[in-house]
Amino acid sequence: MNFEPSREFAIKKLEDFIDKNLHEYSKLRNFDFGPEQRKNVSSISPYITHGILSETEVIKNSLKKFSFAKNEKFVQEVLWRIYWKGWLELRPLVWSDYIIELKKLKKEFYNNKNYLNAIEGKTNIECFNYWISEIKKYNYLHNHARMWFASIWIFTLNLPWQLGAEFFMKYLLDGDSASNTLGWRWVAGVQTKGKNYIASEWNIKKFTNNRFSQIKLNENPQPIIDNRNYSISKNDFLNNEINNNDNLIVFENSLSIECSDFRELDFKNIYLVQKDNDTREIKLDEKVLKFKEDLISDQKIRLENKSSKIEIINVKDLKNLDGNNIALYPSIGEINDFLISNNLKNIKYLYRKIDQYAWKYCNKGFFNFKNYIPKIVTEFI
Ligand SMILES: Cc1cc2nc3c(=O)[nH]c(=O)nc-3n(C[C@H](O)[C@H](O)[C@H](O)COP(=O)(O)OP(=O)(O)OC[C@H]3O[C@@H](n4cnc5c(N)ncnc54)[C@H](O)[C@@H]3O)c2cc1C
Repeated sequence: MNFEPSREFAIKKLEDFIDKNLHEYSKLRNFDFGPEQRKNVSSISPYITHGILSETEVIKNSLKKFSFAKNEKFVQEVLWRIYWKGWLELRPLVWSDYIIELKKLKKEFYNNKNYLNAIEGKTNIECFNYWISEIKKYNYLHNHARMWFASIWIFTLNLPWQLGAEFFMKYLLDGDSASNTLGWRWVAGVQTKGKNYIASEWNIKKFTNNRFSQIKLNENPQPIIDNRNYSISKNDFLNNEINNNDNLIVFENSLSIECSDFRELDFKNIYLVQKDNDTREIKLDEKVLKFKEDLISDQKIRLENKSSKIEIINVKDLKNLDGNNIALYPSIGEINDFLISNNLKNIKYLYRKIDQYAWKYCNKGFFNFKNYIPKIVTEFI
């Protein structure tokens, strides 16, 4: 598995997948044949997470090859990401509660043998130990492996889902506050209340092509109980007016602004913002930080023919910026937390058109959202 940190590489990866493998996606997507045989899925998530490829661009290109009817599963999966994002945007307390609980659990489990054995891959479950070494080596796991891993973590190793979500965020190149937190909540049975995802020996054996033995799991667990109900606390995502004397702030989630809704706009300065581990609650693996750093440099090179002055700055320097500052919305997550805790709330935001439109339909479950997918596709693709 190879994830070069450039838009050029991301486009090539997407094109290759569409040309050679998309036709079998719905049939083969659930198989995890191992890191050297990943052609059955696109592996473009590290690029979508950083805005190197946009969801609209990915769907548009796939629909050039196959009709919506033939391509429905892939389109749904890409939009699932927007759904998770919107779901969390409407309920930001889910994220802040997660961070509060994580801080507490980190102290509690600091020296816990069961936890330390799990993150070192020293359990008696062969496949789990393998996925620990895989994620550390490649900074990626197949979707099905993420589901099995999370289920084993919670229900067989009896560890808190919050620590598992932290472990994924640390190592995944595609680490995303919405997809990851809500993915873990879903496996635990607190996202869709009472419905947990249960990994089983036969399922793992079948979808890994019998690569593993010794899969003794708790296959009859109860879902985690969480009685909190999160009501919708925010639902307007309106853009501010912009004028060409404003500065544009770009965070690590929007690193292809020359292809974005805002590509025609002129700004005085464009600041590409880097965030180190000392300003993160979840400390990232060095390879993940380096990937982000390189993607930011790649974006800088691609912007260099713009009339604006382009500069890479540290997130801590934001408070020293003069003038009118407008930012591409960073989403609920660690960057947003930093802006709030440093009283930088006065930065105005720009939201993508597709998010403004699709997040309206994230008030209920994904099955409800799915009904609006044809509408979203007609509107934006
Ligand atoms: C516990 C858990 C944690 C996860 N954490 C993350 C995360 O931090 N970041 C992340 O991007 N995805 C996360 N996912 C979702 C999913 O596993 C990855 O998006 C997918 O494996 C990426 O591989 P791919 O690009 O080959 O996907 P493909 O199958 O080729 O799908 C294409 C794109 O659709 C989107 N997508 C596909 N499946 C999902 C899904 N279930 N949820 C949301 N979007 C999806 C991704 O952007 C992906 O790149 C998580 C899933 C689980 C169960």
